[in-house]
Amino acid sequence: LVSRKSHKEDTVIVLPGDIAIGGLSSVMVAGPCSVESEQQTRTVAAALQKAGIKVMRGGAFKPRTSPYDFQGLGMDGLRILREAADEYGLLTISEIVDPAHLEPALDYVDIIQIGARNMQNFELLKAAGELNKPVLLKRGLAATMEEFLHAAEYIMSRGNTQVMLIERGIRTYEKWTRNTLDISAVPILKQESHLPVLVDVTHSTGRKDILIPCAKAALAAGADGIMVEVHPDPATALSDAAQQLNIEEFNTFFSEVKASGLFR
Ligand code: PEP
Ligand code: MN
Repeated sequence: LVSRKSHKEDTVIVLPGDIAIGGLSSVMVAGPCSVESEQQTRTVAAALQKAGIKVMRGGAFKPRTSPYDFQGLGMDGLRILREAADEYGLLTISEIVDPAHLEPALDYVDIIQIGARNMQNFELLKAAGELNKPVLLKRGLAATMEEFLHAAEYIMSRGNTQVMLIERGIRTYEKWTRNTLDISAVPILKQESHLPVLVDVTHSTGRKDILIPCAKAALAAGADGIMVEVHPDPATALSDAAQQLNIEEFNTFFSEVKASGLFR
């Protein structure tokens, strides 16, 4: 079902308000790593609306490496994200890690995110496959293209064909980036499948200083969109403090990406 062989045309995911992902226009998905408070979320939402962004991200269920780190606000976080997004006319995307939270999340998110650590959580994939809701599937930390596409197939095989893929970097020996952005994944996924392909420049690099060239490279390679993390005061962020852009940095980032002519 994911294969380009059985489905020649690019799949376009149509979201409420006729916002499309895939096809002719590029999408910029932006927002904080974690939803931390109403104030923080509304500040980002206001800035995104001003910049012309349509889809806001914000984690409520955070898959943290350490159990002692901030775990996210859970359902409260989803509510805060929805309220801020509604106030500023944005769509929402947030990660769900537990199949039991998929149904309750439907009222709050326009796109369900399945994170890198759960790319092969097959029960979660199957449950997401039962929904009538777009799913953004992140590439696993060490997943091959074949494994990534099989994971998407799990969702689609249950009936949910609204699937988007996102390259978010893979683990290599390199230490100067948080992960290694596998730019070759973009043309391979576009060739092999008909699904929209995005690139998360924040988690793949973990470095604010190279986001612009990486986003341009992703778009030049054929990506349908970019994901980037934005926080009003990154130094105080409860997760990923080192890698989130502040609002001014985000505005510069987005302007530069648009100025390249690669953002359609
Ligand atoms: C995220 O996007 O919030 C996230 C945790 O990313 P990943 O699953 O790619 O690590
Ligand atoms: Mn993050």
